[in-house]
Amino acid sequence: MGLGDRVERLLIYPEAEHRFELAIELDNGELGLFTGHRIHHDSSRGPMKGGLRYHPTVDEDDVLALSSLMTWKTAIVNVPFGGAKGGINCNPDNLSAGELERLTRKFVQRLGPMIGPKIDIPAPDVNTNAQIMAWVMDEYSRREGFTPAVVTGKPIELHGSEGREAATGRGVVYIAQAVCEDLKIPMEGARVIVQGFGNVGSHAAQFAYEAGAKVIGVSDISGGILNPEGFDIPALQQHVRAGKPLSEVPGITTVTNEELLTTECEVLIPAALGGVLDEETAPEVKAKIIVEGANEPTTPEADEIFVKRGIVVIPDILANAGGVTVSYFEWVQNLQSFRWTEDEVNQKLHATMKKSYQTIARVVKERNIPWRTGAFVVALGRVARATVLRGM
Ligand code: NAD
Repeated sequence: MGLGDRVERLLIYPEAEHRFELAIELDNGELGLFTGHRIHHDSSRGPMKGGLRYHPTVDEDDVLALSSLMTWKTAIVNVPFGGAKGGINCNPDNLSAGELERLTRKFVQRLGPMIGPKIDIPAPDVNTNAQIMAWVMDEYSRREGFTPAVVTGKPIELHGSEGREAATGRGVVYIAQAVCEDLKIPMEGARVIVQGFGNVGSHAAQFAYEAGAKVIGVSDISGGILNPEGFDIPALQQHVRAGKPLSEVPGITTVTNEELLTTECEVLIPAALGGVLDEETAPEVKAKIIVEGANEPTTPEADEIFVKRGIVVIPDILANAGGVTVSYFEWVQNLQSFRWTEDEVNQKLHATMKKSYQTIARVVKERNIPWRTGAFVVALGRVARATVLRGM
């Protein structure tokens, strides 16, 4: 892109890396010590935006990589935000609701003035949800006065946005529909496989089902299930809402997550954790299109294999940007103390995803480059121009 050495260096390094030791009292009276991270990657296009992840694999490298993805993602959908990410190294399965609340509040206390509606606005990510965002808002508001715009993905009762919870999965399917249309693959009857049945995966499966696709495979941490006729997704959602793992769905073929990823289909949607499509799986993948619902599901080695094999990979920074788009709508509604209907939100989301897709599709076709490269050309271009215009 010929950005020049100065701009390249500015874009590579994060603006700030914060690390905190978080001490809380556990329910049994013992001391619980956890490490929290928040990394501010780039604020040239606006206040920084990015999720909070609670997971045992959270560390500085992980959070740094994810924070830079947020810079590119917000630029791709052209919302006025920069990129950040945060997380706590913990296993939430082993923490009670009270412990999670104390840990979240301690994190917000430590973050102090480093978050705020014009500075950095957290959101949910893996193992964090609307309740955790409510605690973030409450703890920040105790100090600063009632401030719902400090965090997105809140419960509707606390000024969360209609449509936010389903937004990432909905956006993934809008993109899958657009690429299928371009490649002349009818969505009606297309075989779709979704890895992960949490927020992103279950909504993506639902919208693909509603669009007439046959969702022939889904999985969660307990493993995968296959049905060549296509699953009744609302029934699967009921099963999961009842607290049961997918592997216990009666009368289906169970497979491992690896087997699921290599089953023949038109559209594969990885929507669980990062790094699942690696150099060992990539040669075996039999999908025509991969739409990255999760962040970083494809390793760089696997990405090269997919390019060589002619498998179209729609990168995370475009495919799963529906979540940050509706987070932006939530922030706008909060700043204006105003509410939009779910229809308004969904229409605006659709328009944003379509425009972002078309912009990148044009670059991909004009330059004859892979989708991931095309997405980075658009994102880096926008961030670089903002950086240069603002000056040192
Ligand atoms: P979630 O916690 O709601 O769901 C994760 C799902 O993955 C669960 O069904 C879980 O059982 C499954 N899973 C966990 N480990 C697995 C494994 N080893 N093999 C197979 N399945 C496994 O999380 P989420 O919010 O749906 O996020 C999923 C991915 O999407 C993450 O990479 C996240 O960063 C990304 N993402 C989420 C959003 C959002 O709005 N929630 C937005 C953009 C990107």
